[in-house]
Parts: sequence; structure tokens; C-alpha cells
Amino acid sequence: MSDLVLVLNSGSSSIKYQLLQAVSSQVLASGLVEKVGESHGGRIVHEAGPAKLEYDGAIPDHRAGLLRVFEMFRETGLDLATIGIGAVGHRVVHGGEVFWEPTLITDDVLRAIDDLSVLAPLHNPANVVGIESTRELLPGVPEVAVFDTAFFHTMPDAAKTYAIDAKLAAAHGIRKYGFHGTSHQYVSEQAARFLGKPTEELNQIVFHLGNGASASSIRGGVAIDTSMGMTPLEGLVMGTRPGDLDPGITPYLMRAAELDVSQVEQLLNRGSGLKGLSGVNDFRELQQLIDGGDSQAKLAYDVYIHRLRRYLGAYLVELGRVDDIIFTAGVGENSPAVRADALAGLQALGIDIDPTRNETRAPGIRRISPDHAAVTVLVVPTNEELAIARAAYRLVSTR
Ligand code: ADP
Repeated sequence: MSDLVLVLNSGSSSIKYQLLQAVSSQVLASGLVEKVGESHGGRIVHEAGPAKLEYDGAIPDHRAGLLRVFEMFRETGLDLATIGIGAVGHRVVHGGEVFWEPTLITDDVLRAIDDLSVLAPLHNPANVVGIESTRELLPGVPEVAVFDTAFFHTMPDAAKTYAIDAKLAAAHGIRKYGFHGTSHQYVSEQAARFLGKPTEELNQIVFHLGNGASASSIRGGVAIDTSMGMTPLEGLVMGTRPGDLDPGITPYLMRAAELDVSQVEQLLNRGSGLKGLSGVNDFRELQQLIDGGDSQAKLAYDVYIHRLRRYLGAYLVELGRVDDIIFTAGVGENSPAVRADALAGLQALGIDIDPTRNETRAPGIRRISPDHAAVTVLVVPTNEELAIARAAYRLVSTR
């Protein structure tokens, strides 16, 4: 079968996509649809080799956005209906207790993903609409769901259980699931290949630091803990999400500031984290504010680093012995300051960074620890689209 895979990541108001060859990892086209369902600012940027097409105009829903994307593919000489796509791979955020492997999408699977919307109301409904749209636009092409929660399915009960009323937790599926799993798995496998060892022999800590951010500890290729929880709000400080928060703050705020459920949800998902503290969620803007002497921005940075180090400490203890620490995603791959500050002063634990290596920009995987350090510190570019394409291709080609 063809290893050409269309990968879709449908968010609540956006769609990211790539058409790529799963075996060679060659990308034929990619793009981003923004502000789906919003009255202003709808925009699509589509790139296919040297060609770059842009569209500005209302995008009423995901289906309309995808129809326009399919047209843009045709305008750049790629007709998705006839080009011979082997599979469509969908990033699906929540697999609940039901899915922990890439899964061929049938009507029943689609219904189950929809049912899991109670656990991820901002994400799974968008994934369902994305799947329905491509099923209609590309009839007969196998579709595969790759779940963001899947890699963390292996966490032991002690790590994934919240200490609340057990019956209530069971009735409502309340436990830690973890997210960004495709990225954590991909970069940990890439690191193992770089180190020339099987993942089974490695204890690894991964920091995925993008707009969303999460950490994980991985023993022998198996995830044993992660910072995100039942929802992607828990854990590290993120662009607009607070990460760990005293649970008492939510009911307190609802009473004291008279916020209702959706206002609290909005505050925690869009108005907290770096943005809540400093007014900006983009890390580059935060750095500029700090350079200009903004004390709130500096505080936001310090809170961000403090939280990273707290998780690092926890995972060092969980693992006992650590072979490598991996930084990935926008901030992790591009901010030498974050990497240096996160690991500062830990030479006694065998953790050290070579300043020149850390500051040197280079594509691909790179070691930023000194050669003699007991723990190898790596920058590993993530590539969730490629991981999803390969998972989809593997499943469809071995059916
Ligand atoms: P997501 O996929 O979660 O939207 P990304 O992995 O693309 O996010 O990461 C986005 C973040 O990476 C932003 O905060 C952005 O400012 C940050 N980033 C990108 N490039 C740099 C850079 N050169 N230095 C510091 N931060 C950067």
C-alpha cells in the first residue's frame, strides 16, 4: 500500500495538517487553519514545496475549513481524492480507559471517541468533526486514531490515582491520563536511537515545553508518571494554563469572584499560566519583557522554572537512576536559558550542561551535556505528525 498519509490535528478552533510519506518522512504539504467557527480572522496558510497559498475569510466549521484545504491541495497540483493516500491519521486527544493503541476508525470507534467528550469537552468534539469530514471527503481511505493519552496507559495505579472518593472517581472516570503522549514516546525513542541503546535499557525524563507543557518519567521505554492529569491543565506552568493549583482555589474563586463554571474553565484554560502572570503567553515575548525589566514577566519565568525543577526532582527520585533528560517542543528546543536554569546547580547529581553546546543552534538531535556527565542531556526535536503517520501506516499496512 501507499505510505502517503494525511495527518490531521483538529483543535477546537484550528486544524493543523500534513501530507507526508511515512517511510521516508518526506513532507509534501502542510498547513494551518485558524479561527474556525469565529466571525473574524479565519485564515488558512497552505504550503506545498515552494508554493505557499493563503486564504483569509470566514471558516464557519471544520468541514468548511477542510473543503477549502482540499481545494488548496488541488491548486498546488495534489488532488487528495486521486493521489493515492494510504491512510488518514488523526490526533485524538482523549482515549480514556478505552483506547491505548492506534485504532482503525469504525462507526463504533467514532461513537466511543465522541462519548469520551465528557472527559475532554474542548478537544474530542473537534476530533470527531475532523474524522467525520475526512471520512466524507475521502471515502474508502482507512482512518486511524492516534491518542494523546495512549503512551501513559502504563502508569502504575499509585501514579494515576487521585486521592478523592473512590466511588465517585470510578463513576466519573477521574484519574490521571496524561497528554502529549505521542511526543513523549517519539522523542524518547529518538533519544535511545541517538544513544545507540534500546529504550528497554534507559531511564528517561522528558520535558515537552510548547504552548502546552508536560513532563514524564519513563523507565525502560514504559511511562511511569507524567505531569498532565485527567485534563491538560495539571502540572507545569504553560502559556495560558496554570498547571498545579490548590484545588481549593476553584470553589473559592467561584464564591469570592462570583465566577460560574464556564468562566472558571475559561480562566484556567486561556487566562492563566504565563499569560495570567505577565500578560503574554508567547515565550519570545516573555523574554523581551524580561529584557526590558518587566518584574511580572520575570516572576512568571521564575515560577515556570521553579515548577520544572519540582517535577525534575520528583522524577529523579521515582527513577532512582537517570540516563538522559530530554528537552523538546518550541521552548524546549529553542530556549537555552530555560534548559540552563532548569538544570542549574545539579552537578552533584551528575546533571550538567555545556554552555557552548547549549547555546549552539543546530537542527536535529543534539547533546548539550559535557561528554563526561553521568546524565546525558539532549535537545530532541519533536515530530508528532511523523509519529502519527508512521503509527497509521504501520496499522493499515499490517491489517
Ligand atoms: P504548541 O505546539 O503547543 O502550540 P510549540 O511547540 O510550537 O507549541 O511551542 C510554542 C512556544 O515555543 C511559544 O511559547 C514560542 O514562543 C516558543 N518558542 C518558539 N521559538 C522560540 C525561541 N527561539 N526562543 C524561545 N521560545 C521559542
